[in-house]
Amino acid sequence: MLSEKARTFKKPVSDSEHKSHWKDWQWQVQHSIVDVKTLERMLEISLSEKEREEIQKTIHIFPMSITPYYLALIDNADPFHDPIFKQAVPSAGELIIENYDLHDPLSEELDSPCSLITHRYPDRILFLISNSCAMYCRHCTRKRKVGKISSMPSKDDFEKAFEYIENHPEIRDVLLSGGDPLMLPDSQLDMILSRLRRIPHIEIIRIGTRVPVVLPYRITDELVTVLKKHHPLWLNTHFNHPHEFTDASCEALSKLANGGIPLGNQSVLLAGVNDCPNIMRKLVHELVKNRVRPYYLFQCDLAEGLAHFRTPVGKGTEIIESLIGHTSGLAVPTYVIDAPGGGGKIPVMPHYLVSWSSNKVVLRNYEGMFSTYQEPDQYERPACDLQCGQCNLQHSGDSGYLMRRAHGIEALLSDYESEITILPADSERVARRQDGE
Ligand SMILES: *Cc1c(COP(=O)(O)O)cnc(C)c1O
Ligand code: SF4
Repeated sequence: MLSEKARTFKKPVSDSEHKSHWKDWQWQVQHSIVDVKTLERMLEISLSEKEREEIQKTIHIFPMSITPYYLALIDNADPFHDPIFKQAVPSAGELIIENYDLHDPLSEELDSPCSLITHRYPDRILFLISNSCAMYCRHCTRKRKVGKISSMPSKDDFEKAFEYIENHPEIRDVLLSGGDPLMLPDSQLDMILSRLRRIPHIEIIRIGTRVPVVLPYRITDELVTVLKKHHPLWLNTHFNHPHEFTDASCEALSKLANGGIPLGNQSVLLAGVNDCPNIMRKLVHELVKNRVRPYYLFQCDLAEGLAHFRTPVGKGTEIIESLIGHTSGLAVPTYVIDAPGGGGKIPVMPHYLVSWSSNKVVLRNYEGMFSTYQEPDQYERPACDLQCGQCNLQHSGDSGYLMRRAHGIEALLSDYESEITILPADSERVARRQDGE
């Protein structure tokens, strides 16, 4: 593991300014590296004319911004193979658009009732409260939006979003995202969180942020004091490689955890960065040591310009196969593909159920051992008619609030829904039948 001290920054500014301001997050943001010349100077490398041109061309389309802190983690002896460099520095690969690449890969815009909200799932929403980030990840799925002045949220956008949430009592979970929510000042975060907390149906609030990784000094005691006023509040961060654990990032995580904030991590599987079982294993171990639960491992999606980062899906299952059983269950994330066209997150895990008969299932474990599990001879299924108040499973009183109809595949399995099929909306066969009527 690389300690931050072991990699002191070469020549950001004068030594004394460096020493006195390094841990000031606003100084870090103001001194972020946004052009090639500074990049070369700070890293003490010299690029070829071609490399320089490629980076410059890419910056034009997708901006670069790297905090001095994050840049200091790059190994300048071999920058082009460095996992931090690859996540932070633009490459010509971003300008290659494959014919299956999508502008809005998750169809987030189709599911947007107003500009700052994506309402894709029944009970939770994504609320994009900021469009800037401490560091612009080269693999960002929302590249089309982040860092563009045109997508800065206005006061009016915020008002519309709050009204939408207030008027939709089915929303119980609000996920603050962006951009990076923690790029907003404490006072504005406090205002947003307070307004959400006044809405009675909001049970939990989540923050998605990469700040602990790229700008750990943003996690100040003052910020934690603001956040912990609004519990239950969860925070998901985005570590992708073991090199991202430094004294500073570990301290940021510790402050958040000590504030009673449950921490999770969402990684993206990236070719040339972390597409290796050993690197992933080290990563998840570092996470749990720092009280962060690995939550998702994402297959790199089909956003434009990410082709050079994509791996086959099999690389992800191979990694999960190397974790389940081999290490703490707590350290194993769920591997998901965020399905194009708004399919949402779909888990893709290895198969463990090998076969089954009328009373046995055959399973295999991580070692390749096969076992049988004998199912019960007698099982009295609770016959469900959705009358929860009269159900044996409800010992007392009116539990009407539990009533909830089944949806999708769940409905095909339920006793009380009448559907026995789910048909594609544009089935030719159905159209033919209707015509023939
Ligand atoms: C990922 C996501 C969520 C949250 O999903 P969880 O599986 O609950 O973490 C909510 N809305 C949108 C649009 C998302 O992409
Ligand atoms: S922090 Fe998140 S939103 Fe910001 S650039 Fe990185 S992946 Fe994109």
